[in-house]
Formats: sequence, structure tokens, C-alpha cells
Amino acid sequence: PVKAVKEWKYTTCNYCSTGCAIEIGLGDDGQVVTSRGHAGADVNRGKLCIKGLLEAELFTSPGRGKVPLMREKAHLPFEPTTWDAALDKTAAKIKEIQAKYGRDSFAVVSTGQLLTEEFYTLGKLVRGQIGTNNYDGNTTLCMASAVSGYKRSFGSDGPPGCYEDFEHTHCLMAFGSNLPEQHPIIYWRLKEALEKRKFPIIVIDPRVTMLAQFADIHLPLTPGTDTVLINSMMHVILKEGLEDKAYIEAHTNGIEELRELLKDYDPKTAQHVCGIDEDRIRTVARLYAKAPAAMSIWTMGINQSTHGSDGVVCINNLNLITGNIGRPGGTSLSITGQCNAMGTREWSSCSGLPGYRLLEKEKDRKTVADFWGIDESFFPPARGMAQTDIFPAIETGEIKGLWLVATNPMTSMPNQPRIRKAMEKLEFLVVQDVYEDVETNQHSHVYLPAAVWAEKEGCHTNTERRVNLTRNVLKPYADSKPDFWIFNEMSKRFQDRNVIHFPATAEGAFNEMRELSKGEGRTLDISGMSYDRIEAARGIQWPYSEAQAAQDAARVGEAEGFDMLQRKDFLGNPRLYSDGKFQTPDGRAKLIPVRFVNNNECPDGEYPFWLNSGRVVEHFHTRTRTGKIGNCNKFSPTPYMEMNPDAAAELGIQHQSYVRVISRRGDAVVMVQLTQRVGRNMVFIPFHFHDCVNRLTLGLLDPYSRQPAFKQNACRIEHI
Ligand code: SF4
Repeated sequence: PVKAVKEWKYTTCNYCSTGCAIEIGLGDDGQVVTSRGHAGADVNRGKLCIKGLLEAELFTSPGRGKVPLMREKAHLPFEPTTWDAALDKTAAKIKEIQAKYGRDSFAVVSTGQLLTEEFYTLGKLVRGQIGTNNYDGNTTLCMASAVSGYKRSFGSDGPPGCYEDFEHTHCLMAFGSNLPEQHPIIYWRLKEALEKRKFPIIVIDPRVTMLAQFADIHLPLTPGTDTVLINSMMHVILKEGLEDKAYIEAHTNGIEELRELLKDYDPKTAQHVCGIDEDRIRTVARLYAKAPAAMSIWTMGINQSTHGSDGVVCINNLNLITGNIGRPGGTSLSITGQCNAMGTREWSSCSGLPGYRLLEKEKDRKTVADFWGIDESFFPPARGMAQTDIFPAIETGEIKGLWLVATNPMTSMPNQPRIRKAMEKLEFLVVQDVYEDVETNQHSHVYLPAAVWAEKEGCHTNTERRVNLTRNVLKPYADSKPDFWIFNEMSKRFQDRNVIHFPATAEGAFNEMRELSKGEGRTLDISGMSYDRIEAARGIQWPYSEAQAAQDAARVGEAEGFDMLQRKDFLGNPRLYSDGKFQTPDGRAKLIPVRFVNNNECPDGEYPFWLNSGRVVEHFHTRTRTGKIGNCNKFSPTPYMEMNPDAAAELGIQHQSYVRVISRRGDAVVMVQLTQRVGRNMVFIPFHFHDCVNRLTLGLLDPYSRQPAFKQNACRIEHI
């Protein structure tokens, strides 16, 4: 019998970066019955995708870690132990390795799945006490190119737009973004906007994705040539005088250098590189430039590339020369991946210091050191290794120990055969994860069982910079603990290095972050937020300063109990750079010329197919969670490979037969799905499954962001 819901509890979805507000239904016995979308939340207005609808099943899903585990060698069986013993052992091993090989010989890699207060606390522990500079997040596999591109163009990270821009735009261009499968509720917001007012959708993607099927114009470009296509569009815009001259003059530097470069990208020439007919290039360039407001969105098709950062810069250039930054419907909006990819960018200190502060800036090092009460010389003057550099450094022996938090590189990293060898070389590996049976845990010496999602409390920041709250709905399962608690306990074992105060609650940590976020002209200012205000408004978009909050409170009389949801007076700021002032020394955005260099692993006689990878709607990342949920598995049970019917016929391959896919790294066996979604020289495999597509990927790195190219690799197909 279906249990009745006695009480609904408010929280936020912990999968993708859309940031949907969820209510968890609890029965008479306090156990979870179901989940539903929160109707009052601006982001999802009561809707959820399949993952959010089934998210309540996570609390009781199989494979959850119950108690900490330890073993001397990774091939021996685990023994259950106490929290004190596991944390003592971990702290002692970190200190031993650092004493023997140097502070940076121990690395830490986290995730985009934690809550923001957990990121802040982990950053404080790693940067302020453990003191290794080799600390990164698995966001390097996901958003690093967007971060790097924003910083190069605008002087700071932070997506400048918001979902509401769909309601104002007159043209939307999507680069390598398949919203219906990656971010279904953002797609629903887009469709809702289109039902009210028609505007053209242009999709740029080598594959006929679900979003491409819905587009007015689909440009199936040659993989890895997006910078050529965008440069060519800009060539047309400048040649035909369609640019926004007043905006360029008032708010940018570098137009002459860009104009000079773009002479080499006329559509007649570009079409032979990017595979898009010259007239189509001209058509979309004119459509975009002539629209009263136009916006670009992108996801992994741009970021996961050897020139991902350059691709982002090109998109920013396009929007700057057409005046499409910081205005309703005009923006350069990177749709982030994980639920709190933004939180890790903002507060984790992975590539710098909290609050978008930089290790490279003396003033930033001093501000944070003073705030934490430590000597600023404890901080290194530049960032250390990215995640993608840490694994090669394990191979060479430079890194001896590793702490992995909620990330599963044994499925997620490219070139798995090489990653496996690296893991086997580690002297000490600690895995902190909700699930004991996660693949990477096979190599660990200590396992720390973490609480899942709404068994803990804290904030997320979504794609549109909206900070939302996750309330703890249930107590942690068995003897698992919130990540926040684990980091706090570990900090007690490093007070001999630096005595630092760690707040006992997530709200205490949030209040510390609010204080640290203050500062004249800072975009990432959250000082006007509080847990109560965030919950009442169902999310607030930064920047939101203390001064703005005080003005809002005075205007609407918060003390008299106005309903913030009705009044929408405490929602923060939907857009960055609306005043045309950027975070560069002179306040102007940079137009940066980007020249195309073909450094992909392209198909050849031996490996004649492009190997593309991506997402299916039912699963999230490496299936550590969705792989445990019956209905997600039912709709997407096994890996498969999309293949063009003509290409399959040439090789005598049948629909639903099994084939071996081979690259220069390894091989994988998959079932064939014949479809016109891919062209004759491309195959596509979802990335979620263990021992599958990432046995094949090479993962060449972007020089700026260190993000790997997951989507531009070469392979061949053989019968089994
Ligand atoms: Fe969760 Fe994303 Fe689905 Fe919303 S769209 S319910 S945030 S997975």
C-alpha cells in the first residue's frame, strides 16, 4: 500500500545545476514516502525531471556505506573501524607522506556535488592547515573551460545571465548543449518562453541531439571546429557593419586586433574547416546580430575540448561585439554541470582562495590569511596541479597520497587503463563517498562513509548564480556523517600546523563566508543573504550585498512580515555587468583574437570514426546514485553506441548487435543502436557507464583550463 504523506520538507535537488526546489514527503513514521517539485520556486515552478522525481529513493538505495573501513593494502579485505580510528589514520598518513616527500606530495580532489559550506570548510582545511597546493575538483572535467574563458574576457568567473533571459531574447544559439537530456527543467523553461513568444533557436552540434531536433536551424559542424565557425560569423558581422559600435567603443578593448584576425575567417574558407555551408554561416550571423537581444548558451560540447577556453572566449567575443552582455535576453550563459559546480568555483579554494580570490594576488592572500588568523606565507603564490595533472603526477611518483571526496575517477577520467595504473601506485588513498561500492573504492586504504544530500544542510549555487538551501530532511544513514562534520573533525587533527577556528554548524560557516564576501566592487557578494531569507525567497541570486538587503527590507517592511515570494523583493540580481563595468583593471571587457589550431585526435585510415560521448536523461555522471534507482535503470539499463545505418551497412553491422570499439588506449564492447542522429563518420556512447567509453578516450588537455577533450577522439569498430 502507498503510504500517506504527513509532512512536506523543503530542499534542493542534488543532481544537475538547474537548481530545482524539491519537497520531500514524510509519512507518519518519519520515513520518506515521495518527492515533488516546489510550486512556489521560481526556478522549476513545481516541475522535476525523472531524476528529481525519484530522488527520495536515494535515502535507502543499496551500497551505502554504514561505517568507516580500513585496510593496510588495497588488495586485502576491509575491516570496519571507528570514526576516530579512521580519521586518526588518515591524518597520520597525510603527515607522514608530507614529511617524507614534501607538502605537495599529498593531493586532494573533491567534486561539484558537495554543499557550499562543505567546500568552504574543505578549502580552509586544505589551504589553511594541510597546506598542499595540489588540490582540485572534478569540475576540471566539466566547467574549467567556462571559468577560464570568463576570466580571460570579463576579468572574473560568474555566468552573467539567467533563465529569465529566455523570456526576453529574440534569438538563442546553443553550442554543444543538449538541454532536454542534460538540464530538462531549463529546457522546459525555454519551451514555456517559446509558447508565449516565438524566436529562432540555432543549435550547433555535430550530433542531431534532442535539442537539435527542436531547433529552427541545426549546424552539424565538424567536431572541434567551433572557434572557426564563431570567428567566421564575427567576420560576417564586422564586414557587414552589424556590430554594436557604441557598446564596443564604451565597454571593450581589442576590437582592432580582433578585426585583423577575422580577415582570415571568411565563410568561403571557413566552410571547408568547420563543414558548414558559407551561406548558412552568413544567415545565422545576420540573424544573431540583427536580433534586438540575442543569447548564447553552451555546455560540454564547448568545454570538453583541447580549445574549450578559446571556444568560450569566442562566444564572449561574439556577444561583446553585438552588445549582448548584461541586458535582458542578451547574454553569454554557460550552463553548468553538477548541482553545485558554481559553489565549488566560488568557495572551494580549488584553484585559488575562497570568494573568487586568487593565490597569485598578494592582497587576496593577505585578506584570507588575516581572516583565518594565519601567516600569509603558508599560501603558495600560484595554483598547483589540476585534477588532470594529478594522475600523471602519481604515475611519475611526484604525488604519493590522495584524498578523493565524492568523485569517482575510475569511471569519470579519460584513458582509464592509464588511470588504473596510476591508482595502483598510490602509497595511500582515502575515499570519502556516500557509497561503499563506488568503483574507485576498490583501490583505497581508508573509506569514509558520507551522508547523502538531504541528510545534511547547506547551500547550492545554480547555473544562474542563485543560492538555494538544502535542508536536512532525515538523519544520516547508519554511521555515515555529513561531509561538513568529516572536514571539521579532520581539522582538529591539524591544529598543530595552524590554529584556525572552524564553525560547528553549516549556518555558522555560511555566516563566515558572508563576511568574507564583502568588499567594494566585488561581484561575488553574498553578505545580504541569510538562511531564512534564502528559504523564504526560494533562492537568491548573487551579488546581494548587505546594503541592498537593508534597502529591500526598508522598502517592503520585512519586519512586518511581507511575503517575499509574492513581492519578489529579495531575489538578488539576475544579471552581471548590466552597467557595462567588468572585473578588469580598467573596467572594460577584453576582445581576444583566437586562432584555430587543429590539435584533435582526428579520424584516419586506422581509426576512421569520431568518437563522441555525452549524457542520457535518466543517469547522472558515473551512476553512483542513479544506477541504484530502479526506474532510472529500467529506462537506461546498459551502455550502447549510436551508429549511422549507412556506415553500419558498409561494415555489415546489425541493429542491436554487439561490437568491439577500439581506440589507441583500449577497447569496449557495446550494443549498436542504428540512428540518423550521428553522421557516417561518427559514433556516440554515453559516458555514465564503468569500463566503457572512458577506456577509449584520450583526453588531450586544454592549455588554459586543463580540461580534457572527451568528445573528439578517434576509434574503429570490429565485429565480435
Ligand atoms: Fe534535479 Fe536537474 Fe532534474 Fe531539476 S532538472 S530535477 S535539478 S536533475
